[in-house]
Amino acid sequence: MARVLLLSTTTGYQTRAFGAAAAALGVDLVFATDRCHVLENPWQDGAIPIRFHEEHAAADAIVDAARRAPIDGVLAVGDRPTVIAALAAERLGLPGHPPEAAAIARDKERSRERLRRAGLPVPWFVPARLDEDWRRLARLARFPAVVKPVALSASRGVMRADNEAQLAEALRRLRAIMRQPELRAERNEAHERILVEGFIPGREYALEGLLYRGRLVVLAVFDKPDALDGPFFEETIYVTPPASNTVARRIIEAVARAAEAIGLHHGPIHAECRVNDEGVFVLEVAARPIGGLCASSLRFERLARPGDEASAGPRLASLEALLLRHALGEDPALWAREANASGVMMIPIPAAGIYREIAGLDDARRVPGVEEVVITAKPDQRLVPLPEGASYLGFIFARAADASTVERALRTAHACLRFRIEPAVRVLQSGHGSV
Ligand code: ADP
Repeated sequence: MARVLLLSTTTGYQTRAFGAAAAALGVDLVFATDRCHVLENPWQDGAIPIRFHEEHAAADAIVDAARRAPIDGVLAVGDRPTVIAALAAERLGLPGHPPEAAAIARDKERSRERLRRAGLPVPWFVPARLDEDWRRLARLARFPAVVKPVALSASRGVMRADNEAQLAEALRRLRAIMRQPELRAERNEAHERILVEGFIPGREYALEGLLYRGRLVVLAVFDKPDALDGPFFEETIYVTPPASNTVARRIIEAVARAAEAIGLHHGPIHAECRVNDEGVFVLEVAARPIGGLCASSLRFERLARPGDEASAGPRLASLEALLLRHALGEDPALWAREANASGVMMIPIPAAGIYREIAGLDDARRVPGVEEVVITAKPDQRLVPLPEGASYLGFIFARAADASTVERALRTAHACLRFRIEPAVRVLQSGHGSV
């Protein structure tokens, strides 16, 4: 039985989806995760315990484990373990992204430098320390600007500033975010660095792809039809395919060049772009697949090849199945996204507070085209919106013949949902401040 090593940050939905895909493919899955962050251990044991902040030691532990039970493919989900996956693949003699490229992809400053050097459109940018004096940055910046940490994801800590006062406030807020114990525990020196850069107007798109020995195989181009103009950049709707084939082609070309400029070679990529009259601005190319539940908006069909009719094997595959096949050396060009349009809405957190309950779920599920509504927030959970938080209330999935019907279905279903969120109570004790 072939064995694939899966490096993941969490033990959530995505690892279960990989478990199901592996079982269907007859692939043995072995996990490596940061034991400090594991709250449950659904796979019992057999997992390789590593520390995400000790990347070389983690790769050594994986190589050691592979001596006892061979590993045939390596896959990382989430941003943090991508470099370890690349190091492990390299040491095991398996194809993968070069470790240096994975490190650049995870660092917004180094990625910007690579894209600029390759002659790709990039906004002006000023790298700075987290404790930089805002007055110096205000002198270097033009407005509107965007302030962001170089090594977080899911838009966490990303803020727009239209003037000096907003820049000063964004920096203050970013410092408070980066000081949170959970981020300090990552012991990541990159968390001391930030970028201030030009705000790029335009429509936003995402590309999901697999590099196969340097060649980009596009799995989907997503349109993000909601304006993302700030001050924070909460993602909501992803729909595929985009309305314009020409725009999709330009995005594919720009992402292929960006991935090459970063040095990515073999493995999943997830890229974000902004398109305007000046061109396609690649905001980032991450060396990992799309996160968590969103993956289930994608479904693939095996392309019919002459003489292939009689061949055994499934005709449909999930993204997880495709990623496992690729990790074991299969060319993903044998598959293409289904003919239907599909989409997902990441349900935004409307306000900070305590989530109590939801109404309207049945109505939302009955909207034609809607396939699933998943509420991931747990009753009594504290909700933290962007820029401090990085989660959603849940996800709505839809499929239809065309993307505009999908988008409408997602919006109609969302309008059915009513979340009861109560303000978090702050107890004031005289003389002791707030508790
Ligand atoms: P993350 O890795 O946390 O997603 P990004 O740098 O991709 O961070 O930024 C998150 C989102 O913020 C983007 O998808 C985009 O909507 C917005 N954004 C980031 N940088 C810019 C920019 N320079 N101009 C306009 N929007 C931006």
